[in-house]
Amino acid sequence: MEDVKEMYNELVKRISECTKCPLHTTRRNPVPGEGPLEAEVMLIGEAPGRKEDELGRPFVGMAGKLLDELLNEVGMPRRSVYITNVIKCRPPGNRDPRPEEIRACLPYLIRQIQLIKPRIIVALGRISAKTLHDLARLQWKGISKEHGRVKDAVIAGVKVKILATYHPAAALYNPRLRDYIREDLRKASLLREAGEPGRSRRTLEDFF
Ligand code: URA
Repeated sequence: MEDVKEMYNELVKRISECTKCPLHTTRRNPVPGEGPLEAEVMLIGEAPGRKEDELGRPFVGMAGKLLDELLNEVGMPRRSVYITNVIKCRPPGNRDPRPEEIRACLPYLIRQIQLIKPRIIVALGRISAKTLHDLARLQWKGISKEHGRVKDAVIAGVKVKILATYHPAAALYNPRLRDYIREDLRKASLLREAGEPGRSRRTLEDFF
């Protein structure tokens, strides 16, 4: 575990010094991600927004507040999961990340998956979900068809279950999407509860 922590800290340093794409010239802070390195569930969003760029932390704006609420409602509080994004620096004006930016940043996400070895990955929104499906060589038919489906996959040698859902920002003004996200997150929470033979179950105390 010490090793993982050291390697993780090294990764965060590399992200903070990264100049692989032009976003480093406009970012205020890189947003590597946060959460326990032992987390069984990894949530992956799209890219930092204004508030995230300001604070260097993922999902701390309005969409993050909604995400926190939904996570609490399904018994999977934020402090028990690892949260990151496909790209680590904010695209100006919150535009969609460009394919070349995603390509440049992807090695960092892959390294995070290798170090944390989550059992379950929840992809938040279509850009994250499509990126993860491509990485795992899974077919992608669009978020409305795919959300809530649990797919076995191997990413960078790590066996994971991928579950896509809508992006919380899209649900801010659309209660129906909020219901979908809640149900999809509940599925992830139940999967986590169910555990897996041969892998030690964490108890609630591990999260305090
Ligand atoms: N949207 C994202 O995709 N990620 C964040 O961290 C915040 C908003």
